Amino acid sequence: MSESGKVILRYFADRPANRWLCYGQHSGWNQMGLGSAVNFELSRGDFEGYSWGNYRLYRIQSKPEFDWESSNTVEQYLWGQHSRWVGDTEWKISQWETECRDAKREMAVTRHRNRINELMDRVPALPDDFEDWLKKEIFPEDFLYVRKQGGKTEYICTACGKTGKRSSLARVGEETVCPRCGRAVKVRSRNRKYKAQTAAVVLLQTATMPRDRKDPLKGLFPEHDVYVERQMTVECRPLEGRKELRIYEHIRAVVPKGEHWGNVYYGEFADGTPEHQFFRDTNPMNRRWKMSYLYPNNLGEVLPAAGMEHSGIDILARKKIPVNVDYFIVNYPSMTWIEYLIKAGLYRLVQDIVNNSWGYSGESVVRTSGRNLQECLMLDAAGVNRLKQLNGGRATLEWLRVEKKTGRRISQESLEFLTVNRISPWENTTAKMLKAIGSPNRMANYLKKQMEKTGYAASTVLSTWLDYRDMCRRLNKQTDAEIVYKPKDVNLAHDECLALLKREDAGKRAAEVREKFPDAEPNLQLIADKYNFGNDEYLIIVPENIEDIIVEGSTLGHCIDRTDIYFERIQNRTSYLVFLRKAERPEAPWYTLEIEPGGTIRQKRTVGNTQRDSDIKAFTPFLREWQKNVLRKMNREDKALAQASKEARLEEYGQLRARKEPIRNGLLKGQLLADVLEADLMEAM
Ligand SMILES: [Zn+2]
Repeated sequence: MSESGKVILRYFADRPANRWLCYGQHSGWNQMGLGSAVNFELSRGDFEGYSWGNYRLYRIQSKPEFDWESSNTVEQYLWGQHSRWVGDTEWKISQWETECRDAKREMAVTRHRNRINELMDRVPALPDDFEDWLKKEIFPEDFLYVRKQGGKTEYICTACGKTGKRSSLARVGEETVCPRCGRAVKVRSRNRKYKAQTAAVVLLQTATMPRDRKDPLKGLFPEHDVYVERQMTVECRPLEGRKELRIYEHIRAVVPKGEHWGNVYYGEFADGTPEHQFFRDTNPMNRRWKMSYLYPNNLGEVLPAAGMEHSGIDILARKKIPVNVDYFIVNYPSMTWIEYLIKAGLYRLVQDIVNNSWGYSGESVVRTSGRNLQECLMLDAAGVNRLKQLNGGRATLEWLRVEKKTGRRISQESLEFLTVNRISPWENTTAKMLKAIGSPNRMANYLKKQMEKTGYAASTVLSTWLDYRDMCRRLNKQTDAEIVYKPKDVNLAHDECLALLKREDAGKRAAEVREKFPDAEPNLQLIADKYNFGNDEYLIIVPENIEDIIVEGSTLGHCIDRTDIYFERIQNRTSYLVFLRKAERPEAPWYTLEIEPGGTIRQKRTVGNTQRDSDIKAFTPFLREWQKNVLRKMNREDKALAQASKEARLEEYGQLRARKEPIRNGLLKGQLLADVLEADLMEAM
């Protein structure tokens, strides 16, 4: 190859071996592709007449070419024929180089796969009693499948496999004993399909395997002892007369003996059984080690291989306490103290430490330098006992430390409540509520009451409360007053604040509505005296202005504030909107009612356009009382309006029914709109 007749690069191709070599004056021996090698030489070269400064010019003018003879040589060698034209030899060579690279890559992939398969073939078979153990310990439930047959009940038992007939047996769903084998069983119907039970299980086994290629000892000792960690998912289908197991394996780690970290292989197929799974060392399915039961019967042999015979993990396995076994193994060297916790029976605490996937390391739970349990847990003897009694977790431990630090006793009842609901004093929301309310006992009581009142989980109550408190601050409420920081119903208090804040934004839409329906607001003011009503528990409130309706709608998230239809009806006096509220918080939006003149209630709607049966049941007597009160106050004009409204309603519902108009979204989606509306109707009589 020449540049102004000067050889700048020698190129040696070895076709059978799919490889080549270059020798350049500046680059020496190398394995660059032809194009790169030429460019390299050119960039280093000081060839006559070409400027260093202008790269483009330099490239174009200096592009070297093969002479005819070289081209011919190349063609003959690589393709064994004469070139019909000269000039694209460089391109042809780069094609050949690409093919060489592809072939090499393919070979490498195959070799790599084979190496993994070779390792996987050395993983031992499942232990003989593995399935028995699963059936007995992990899926211990047995079932009696029953079917009615000519006045008698036929049954078949999954424990003993025997069948029989009885005139009376426990009903489907109940627990009983098998009439044949006497074992405790649950009754299931033979005509129904049941979901399979599933469990995550880890199996540890020892093996001998070839060493890694990069292992410096590979030459001397080609094989070494390892232990294998296998993540499985097991499905159990109790069929008539037996239990069928399906075992899927998804992750395998191969760890050299005495170590805690090894190569991990991931199964390609979701339904890959141990024999038929295909493992690779990448993880495109993003598989994770799971909280699992650990097979206990071979641990006496396996744990010494991992240096974990004193870790206590065998106790967890025997007690069937699910843990993230992989986390345990990997982190064991830095948390050998976990043994104390396991041996003290603090399983929930162990689970909190080991199963935590968000990096809550043991060191932040336990003083690792502690010489005994008390020192490790930073509690006194009484505290340790209380922790054990409750089988307390991380949250319990933290509350006990708060108790020790502040010297203010937390009652056993509160502690239990906080434990069960996993409320930790160090979580942001809890810390804020604790600061506001003052004592853990009072906080626990308050949360308990709010959970009963709202039906929410503790975490939802906490976040609702925090939301509420932030809004109180924006509204400049006095947040250190008990009535503010401990509202009787945190949900109502929250919505009240929300309504107050929304009022500020309601002005624009209200102006629009006023322009379109100028009589709507005066009409509402006219009916206020007749329809406003209340007792100790509930209030019916007629909105004073358009803003009230808009705020109500946007707070509860139903549609009344956004559509024109209700304002149009108010304008025409066919129906009105009124608010049903709790007397304890008259400012908090709760239910919105659409009523006809005369008191017939067309619709009752609360948050998200729904209604709650328990609410309805509770306030229906009040609504009846209110309807009676309205009827008493009606004059002749009111009665005429009521009749017109009823007719309009009947016609509208009739049309909806004729069109089979469905509800398009929300909880009631798919139901016929007319059905829902009629079910909600509550006529005044
Ligand atoms: Zn039986």
